[in-house]
Amino acid sequence: MQIAQDKVVSIHYTLKNDAGEVLDSSSGGDPLAYLHGQGNLVSGLEKALEGRQAGDKLSVRVEPADGYGVRDDGLLQQVPRRQFGGANVQPGMQFHAQPSGGHARVVTVVRITGDMVTVDGNHPLAGENLNFDVEVTDVREASAEELEHGHVHGPGGHHHHD
Ligand code: ZN
Repeated sequence: MQIAQDKVVSIHYTLKNDAGEVLDSSSGGDPLAYLHGQGNLVSGLEKALEGRQAGDKLSVRVEPADGYGVRDDGLLQQVPRRQFGGANVQPGMQFHAQPSGGHARVVTVVRITGDMVTVDGNHPLAGENLNFDVEVTDVREASAEELEHGHVHGPGGHHHHD
């Protein structure tokens, strides 16, 4: 079966940056299972997997625009330290920010100057080329329930307890 819209695809993957450092990998665990064509993976990787099948191995280089986005300096923001509710804020820490009326996003503390904290709302991998080594381990039809939820159930996917 070939990878196409709404198939459930299982992959083993290793993600490296341009310096060759491993940023993420499924090795040693279950393969990652995802619903193809629903934006569950970065778009550049989904595009490269289209039409592949179980057993295929591929190396994919994804540029920022098709990965986690180009860096946007407009997402750097200064926040008074007191807004962190007494947390011992340190550079590198990540927080979930919920701007009024906006979407929740993860921000990373980049700098602390006096009582002001500079946070960066870019994805930590924004601006990075993503170098994936991927092995397709399984391709199957999605269940009606998986299609309704927009994600995969079972091994490597979501587990509901409801
Ligand atoms: Zn679900």
